[in-house]
Amino acid sequence: MFFVQSPSFLAHQRDMQRHQGQNNAQSLFGLDQVPSDPQIRNLLDPIAPEHLASPFWRVFEHLRDGDYLKAYQGHLGLWLCALDGTQYFSSQKMHCAQCTTRVVNERTYYSHSLVAPLIVAPGEPRVIALEPEFVRPQDGWEKQDCELRAAERWLQRNASRFPPGSLTLLGDDLYSHQPFCELVIAQHCHFVFTCKPDSHPALYQEIDLLTKVGGVAGVSERRWNGQRHEVWTYRYAMRLPLRADTQPLYVNWCEVTITDEATGELIYRNAWATDHALTESGLHAFVVAARTRWKSENENNNVLKNYGYHLEHNFGHGQHYLALVLVMLNLLAFLFHTVLDLCDEQYRRVRAELATRQTFFHDVQALTRYLYFDSWQVLLNFMFTRLELDTDSPSPPRRRSKRP
Ligand SMILES: [Zn+2]
Repeated sequence: MFFVQSPSFLAHQRDMQRHQGQNNAQSLFGLDQVPSDPQIRNLLDPIAPEHLASPFWRVFEHLRDGDYLKAYQGHLGLWLCALDGTQYFSSQKMHCAQCTTRVVNERTYYSHSLVAPLIVAPGEPRVIALEPEFVRPQDGWEKQDCELRAAERWLQRNASRFPPGSLTLLGDDLYSHQPFCELVIAQHCHFVFTCKPDSHPALYQEIDLLTKVGGVAGVSERRWNGQRHEVWTYRYAMRLPLRADTQPLYVNWCEVTITDEATGELIYRNAWATDHALTESGLHAFVVAARTRWKSENENNNVLKNYGYHLEHNFGHGQHYLALVLVMLNLLAFLFHTVLDLCDEQYRRVRAELATRQTFFHDVQALTRYLYFDSWQVLLNFMFTRLELDTDSPSPPRRRSKRP
């Protein structure tokens, strides 16, 4: 259902089974019998979401070892992993044992959110979804769970999957919090987190003092963005206290201001705290990598929520884990579409020809409703041939975003 992005897929396949004696759920997905929607919900509800974690890692390892992720390697060490928290469910009525509850003015609000770690790279439109971590009540923990604690659990469980020093975590201001940054370092990872003045008064006080005595380095450069010249102005300093504390964590800090050279208009401004060493020659690469998180937040969450994945749609809540398991399956569908895009030339050509994601899946939905296909490959061959995509013509350029 998530893979073909159609809530009616199974109903159509039951119809096909009745009329044609065979169906695509069987041939494309290996289902012996087509279950009903309530059956699926009942079967999935008792399954804890951690049972669905390993496919994420197996896919990542296959992509990495098959050399499909070359463009994703070599940024600030090796890998950039953006941590993006997103709330995908809220209600005042429907709830389950895994809901986060909040009481405001004697009204109880139930919600579900998760941290979706994504492997990202500057200039790469695709993101690789890793195993997510849910914000949910924890055994033996009195307080409400939160995004930061969920990210801690993810890191403690998964940091060792990456060689020491090879993973840089990207995150918003929420993450530039001393205990979390200390954990990142203890797990032999690096961080680049947005660092806002309001939430880091001690650090910015130090910057003000240092600025007065010339202790904050500044440098500007012109850059051509393909359409016009921009001025990138960097300010950076080393060893600043992340918070007012007798034992603060010392971090490096970099701010960038990008303006239009012709009009002086402000295009972008942000600042980050990091444990990476900053050098003048490395500032541009640093900022480009840091901004990748901002890009992923826009592209990935929008894709997941708006373009077919409908992450916020309530596909079913259940009593136990259903609200989590369905999101895991939806994320896996997203991951497998990315895999096809990275690894399958024919899929890439068909997708490029049909231009939008919606058109592609509308076609898949219509085709699988009326016609039987022996396998996914047969379906793809059918689309490829009918679209008259010549096997000898060169592949269209892979989509790249204009600017990192
Ligand atoms: Zn719930």
